[in-house]
Amino acid sequence: MLEIPGRKEICNKFREGGGRVAAVMPIHYPRELFRAFGVLPIEVWGPPGMDISHSAAHLQPYVCSMVHNMLAFLKTGGLDCADFIIVPHACDSLQGLGSLLVDFVRPPQPVFPLYMPRGRRPEDVEFFAQEFRKLYDWLSNLTGRRPSDEQLMESILMEERADKALAKLYDLRTEVSLSVRDFYRVVRTRQYFPAEEFVSFVERVIDEYSGNPPDGVPVIMSGIVPEPMEVLDEIQNLGGIVVGDDFACCGRRVYPAGSGEDPFIRMAWRIVHGPPDVTRGDLIEERFEHLMDKVKKTGAAGMIFYTVKFCEPELFDLPDMRRRLKEAGIPSVHVEVDINDPLSHQTITRIGAFLEVLI
Ligand code: SF4
Repeated sequence: MLEIPGRKEICNKFREGGGRVAAVMPIHYPRELFRAFGVLPIEVWGPPGMDISHSAAHLQPYVCSMVHNMLAFLKTGGLDCADFIIVPHACDSLQGLGSLLVDFVRPPQPVFPLYMPRGRRPEDVEFFAQEFRKLYDWLSNLTGRRPSDEQLMESILMEERADKALAKLYDLRTEVSLSVRDFYRVVRTRQYFPAEEFVSFVERVIDEYSGNPPDGVPVIMSGIVPEPMEVLDEIQNLGGIVVGDDFACCGRRVYPAGSGEDPFIRMAWRIVHGPPDVTRGDLIEERFEHLMDKVKKTGAAGMIFYTVKFCEPELFDLPDMRRRLKEAGIPSVHVEVDINDPLSHQTITRIGAFLEVLI
């Protein structure tokens, strides 16, 4: 398996260099703004395999395992190396978690709840830009720094380069020999590597692993997060290859480069005009067109919807989305997981049966 430093290692290294770290919950936030303050955002997607007795006293059992785990992780010291905690309001469960942290749990780190717009209108961009201005003031009070517009713009350009590197990695999927799991381990370093390190790492991977990916039936995965990541090994073992994704933690955040001189508007525009995402209020038509475009580009034979149990935003779109795909001749399967459970035989069997139909 490819050697990749983990979050803890990157976090410690960054702090040893005098930087600070923000633990950021899913899904969308302005990396470049943190960067301008010398703060490394490290994303928290669970992690899987937590003991949720630590979160059960605060959260209802029907809240998704992602949110349960983030709280359990925090309460068991998992976020101790972070100086700040950021909770974007991607869904009701995350909004609840944000309020819980601010009003009841009160971790030692200051918490910033980041509100998100639900559309792509100019007003949505302005609303998000205004949230970023508040975040700027908050970080400014806590760090004593006030990055200039030029410094903000430098950070934006660097993060845009990193997003371009991520897009290139996806475009070259059929020209890198990485296993399915290793490919996604590389993609997911965008969640915690500093942008410069991410760019050079991706370039190195593209260079060193130039070749054909493993053979397999091409499929696209959609959902929030590919956890437990063993599912990617299983898909490959069962004769499939993931040629693209619509995961909230991966492909839905390949943001385009912005334009314009106002750094806050530019940061907001990039996110608001990213790939369609149900948690940002994008219409099902847009998501469908986006998935069909991916199918055409990658030659995918089918779609695996891999969702987190109790994830309402994903479940809202799912029946309609699957019906539209079926009408367009694209078969799909839906698998629901709790990220605390080991990968079940039932899940493996369902995916295996689906892949057999596609062969
Ligand atoms: S898994 Fe779904 S419900 Fe849970 S935090 Fe993510 S978007 Fe919200």
